[in-house]
Amino acid sequence: MAHRVTLIPGDGIGPELTEATRRVLEATGAEFDWDVQHAGADVMDEHGGNPLPEQVLASIRANGVALKGPITTPVGGGFRSVNVTLRKALDLYAQVRPCKSYAGVRSRFDDVDLVVIRENTEDLYAGIEYEEGTGAAEELIEWIERQGGTLRHRDAGISVKPLSITGSRRIVEFAFEYARRNGRRKVTAVHKANIMKFTDGLYLRVAREVAEENTDMEFDDRIVDNMSMQLVQRPEEYDVLVCPNLYGDIVSDLCAGMIGGLGMAPGANFGEGIAIFEPTHGSAPKYAGQNKANPMAQMLSGVMMLRYLEETDAAMRLEEAIADVIREGASVTYDMKPSRDDPTAVGTSDVAGAIMDKLGVRV
Ligand code: NAD
Repeated sequence: MAHRVTLIPGDGIGPELTEATRRVLEATGAEFDWDVQHAGADVMDEHGGNPLPEQVLASIRANGVALKGPITTPVGGGFRSVNVTLRKALDLYAQVRPCKSYAGVRSRFDDVDLVVIRENTEDLYAGIEYEEGTGAAEELIEWIERQGGTLRHRDAGISVKPLSITGSRRIVEFAFEYARRNGRRKVTAVHKANIMKFTDGLYLRVAREVAEENTDMEFDDRIVDNMSMQLVQRPEEYDVLVCPNLYGDIVSDLCAGMIGGLGMAPGANFGEGIAIFEPTHGSAPKYAGQNKANPMAQMLSGVMMLRYLEETDAAMRLEEAIADVIREGASVTYDMKPSRDDPTAVGTSDVAGAIMDKLGVRV
């Protein structure tokens, strides 16, 4: 039976990338019934100024699975990021970013195979902030002082960092479940528990409790600064990293850099019964409509989606076809060539054609 999947083309380079990805996904033989939905600045006038129409959310809720292109957040104008609103509205608490080396990609590392799982709702990103000099900040400082706390300088802005037992438990449980379902061997919890005892300390304590309930999987933990160093020295010792929001943000970009950068970094956001697959990179507006952008990260997000849909064989064949095209180095976009002005670089749609060819589908 065909998989009903919400397809959000996005804007900027999004429509070209999702079209290229749709073609290679269909070339695997897996069947899809696409429910195409539009969001972003381009459609907001048709929806009373709302860049994330209710029907888009309803479609994702109904289908449970979405393939999404990047969506621009215009600077200024009070426009809230559609991407952030989507994550909040659907409580997409787990962001997953696999970082894997493919032969032929120019990178300082050649044997990386990591998965970064980032908690996406708590931490310093919860949006609880008080501006320096405001009544609220002064009141908070006075309250802190009454509790025996001291601030080195009272002219401080303050951000609050909530990490809860509930949020920590669900992300670490998710990490173990993800590791198990994807045949991984080890989960490493990343934290700074030696300094922030009531937040990161809580996170580590909960992570250890969850690890004791999942003894089929190896578990360890690392302090985030040490983790960063070890990742560049001995990446092969690590497998699945589970991080609170802020460390996850930074560590996942570090790992993306280790495998060749944004053009190669797929991703997914998960909530209860909902999964949205999208690349790590943004909408690169300057390349929009030029058939120039690299579709690999979007396509590898498609491979993740196939695995999620239990189209294991299709996922394997598509990943192999992508890896072949990258290794051969002929039908790749400008950013994957030795020099950025290489005249042999091909366009986004040609990359799709080359991959379809590998899958035995003549374009
Ligand atoms: P970006 O990822 O769009 O671009 C950063 C750099 O990488 C640019 O030089 C760009 O040209 C290049 N790049 C990115 N993807 C590429 C690809 N597939 N092929 C070749 N080159 C590529 O980041 P940005 O410029 O900070 O953001 C642009 C817009 O995208 C902003 O409005 C931002 O809010 C939005 N954004 C959306 C998402 C999302 O939809 N999830 C994520 C990040 C940023």
